[in-house]
Amino acid sequence: ALLLGLESSCDDSAVALVTSDRRIVAQRVVGQNQAHAPFGGVVPEIAARAHVEVLPGLVGEVLAEAGVALGDVDAIAATAGPGLIGGVLVGLLTAKGLALASGKPLLAVNHLEGHALSPRLVDPDLGFPYLLLLASGGHCQLLEVRGVGDYRRLATTIDDAAGEAFDKAAKLLGLPYPGGPAIEQLARTGDPRAVPLPRPLVGSGEPHFSFAGLKSAVQRAVAAGTHRPEDIAASFQQAVVDCFVDRTRLALGRSDAPALVVAGGVAANSSVRAALQALAEAEGRRFSVPPGWLCTDNAAMIAWAGAERYAAGMVDGLDAPARARWPLDQSAEAVRGAGV
Ligand code: ATP
Ligand code: FE
Repeated sequence: ALLLGLESSCDDSAVALVTSDRRIVAQRVVGQNQAHAPFGGVVPEIAARAHVEVLPGLVGEVLAEAGVALGDVDAIAATAGPGLIGGVLVGLLTAKGLALASGKPLLAVNHLEGHALSPRLVDPDLGFPYLLLLASGGHCQLLEVRGVGDYRRLATTIDDAAGEAFDKAAKLLGLPYPGGPAIEQLARTGDPRAVPLPRPLVGSGEPHFSFAGLKSAVQRAVAAGTHRPEDIAASFQQAVVDCFVDRTRLALGRSDAPALVVAGGVAANSSVRAALQALAEAEGRRFSVPPGWLCTDNAAMIAWAGAERYAAGMVDGLDAPARARWPLDQSAEAVRGAGV
């Protein structure tokens, strides 16, 4: 089957055409960093308006590049949440319009399911179940992925998300948004042992995460004025990696899943990838991580999650709601029943 996917839940407008036999036929991602730069973070209203301007054009470009008409597409997938609600509405309503015009079915995809299933787009041998460290701008969770639409959450962050911690630390160091790539770059020339920073919750009995205290410690290290910025960046990155490894090791002890996967924007970080791969090898599990471009937001992962759901017969009606909040380990039915 041929799936058209739309992504607009944060500050990237993205469209992709993906087949159910894992061919990425065409794709585009357009970021909005310049529009938000003066404000030091993503401004929801500006993001939503930019999606309105950009997304329909991207649909046309992707179809043209692939040489297919809308009628050749089997189904249309769009992120229906969680995320900034204005942007989610733009993408979901665009997809509904395309579905209505073409008579093709709609798939209202959970953005987190896009991240969670993304490794299967490029790793055909990755079967269910697998333990997933989902580390992104808004989330930091350990999930057992048991099948399409079947997720068991083992742990989450009790305060900031991992990507959020990178972004806040970067801001403290005077680096541009998004902070993750900037910190990774600066950390290359720094000493990861130079600045003593805490590893919140490491050693605790439940595999949860916490990054707020780490951010405060970075703030103090910057204020002290005695450390080189590259050493702070490297030490911060190492602290996050140490938290990931300790918490994921504990979760692996509670899951029989034969494979470990890391996905979400922070999984683009090479230190994170290397440390989790070493952990998987030490624990006798298979390891899988998507390429960097598939870790940060894109529409190929939304089209792919759509393909997986389409194959399972999980299509949605044109009344599918947009959701600002949408936990992955809760079915759409349960959320609707709860009146969310
Ligand atoms: P969510 O997926 O939770 O809704 P999001 O879609 O905004 O949030 P992603 O695009 O998945 O987040 O990830 C973006 C986050 O990943 C940002 O916080 C960014 O700083 C971080 N990130 C991106 N590249 C890297 C990197 N190389 N190292 C560390 N962090 C990174
Ligand atoms: Fe994301």
